[in-house]
Amino acid sequence: MERGPVQAQSEVAELLSELIRIDTTNTGDTATSAGERVAAEWVAGKLDEVGIDSVIHESERGRASLVARIPGADRSRPALLVHGHLDVVPADPAEWSVHPFSGEERDGYVWGRGAVDMKDMDAMVLALVREWARTGVRPPRDIVLAYVADEEAGGKLGARWLVDEHPDLFEGCSEAISEVGGFSITVRDDLRLYLVQTAEKGLAWMRLTAGGRPGHGSFVHDDNAVTRLCQAVARLGSTRLPTVLTPPMRQFLAAVEEAYGIEIDPDEPEEALARLGSISRMLGAALRNTANPTMLQAGYKTNVIPGTASATVDGRFLHGQAEEFERQLASLIGEGIQREWIVHDQAVETTFDGPLVDSMVAALKSEDDGARPVPFTMSGGTDAKSFERLGIRCFGFSPLRLPADLDFASLFHGIDERVPVESLRFGVRVLDRFLRAV
Ligand SMILES: [Zn+2]
Repeated sequence: MERGPVQAQSEVAELLSELIRIDTTNTGDTATSAGERVAAEWVAGKLDEVGIDSVIHESERGRASLVARIPGADRSRPALLVHGHLDVVPADPAEWSVHPFSGEERDGYVWGRGAVDMKDMDAMVLALVREWARTGVRPPRDIVLAYVADEEAGGKLGARWLVDEHPDLFEGCSEAISEVGGFSITVRDDLRLYLVQTAEKGLAWMRLTAGGRPGHGSFVHDDNAVTRLCQAVARLGSTRLPTVLTPPMRQFLAAVEEAYGIEIDPDEPEEALARLGSISRMLGAALRNTANPTMLQAGYKTNVIPGTASATVDGRFLHGQAEEFERQLASLIGEGIQREWIVHDQAVETTFDGPLVDSMVAALKSEDDGARPVPFTMSGGTDAKSFERLGIRCFGFSPLRLPADLDFASLFHGIDERVPVESLRFGVRVLDRFLRAV
């Protein structure tokens, strides 16, 4: 006999395929972003079929987010927010083995843009609440479901807008779960680390502008804006900032030590992380502040020295490191260069403890004897940055037991993004146990 929620497990892959087929590419520009409204209406339809009411809110034309509240058995308890974004990053069909918006099921995987980021979680939650509604399962406390727009462009027209304009929708929410966490890394047959996200680095996207004396390209010239800017950019790009062990990564490294029976040099933790595979690139970035130059702009003719030159830099800082990061930047950038923030957003961090975490751990262990859940810090940003502003504790918990040889990290925003059907079914079972217990 099949374990867990039968209907949800049987429809989750098809729901994901359908959702992938709705192209919700977010270009960062409303005029060229499509599909979020269609996707939100599709979710509303699936909820409506089982009698769950939802409301769609639009920040701008077509930039739609859906919110529903499922009443819990004890309505006096704080609510749990379960949020997911409906938008995806662009995908070029020419690069893919299958069409990125086909949602094709092949070789035991559902393929397509959004398969792991994050229509997988959207579909798992949808499948589960549909079965609960059909079979009369009531969660212990209110669950607020939010399927939001615009996460891939920072959430200004999605989560951030909802939080600013409609905070009442999240009234009473004390905790939240969403993306980038809950997936497994196989240590050996009987041991898998499940990485639960409890922290995100802060975002500091900046523009650097160097000034200088414009002039003829053939002259002797000692005040060249391009040269000055490039020196600063080279320093930023080639300097590795010092290791800082925040609480989640301290716990994470301790778990890695124990799992692999190794000792990690706290000054050089990256060496040990390398054995975790490609995910180590993301985890390594959670051990320090980073500043990667990404764009350059200067000049208009080979023989004209321009008066200004500018660069953009993707800066990320750890929780509690915002001021230290500014000091590090100032000393690397040096004199004569102006720095302005393009986007500056806070780091998010919570502790890996309490009844909610206990329930995550228990749910994972019930479905996988070899599960060892551990907290970690994500190098990128998610909508947690917005929901945290309402005082909500945010966790990345989209449970997936993954095949040992799957290079999961490279699937995010990657070519041939796909998710195993078995992993989706596992996720549904874990979420079922977890959401019944919290
Ligand atoms: Zn995402």
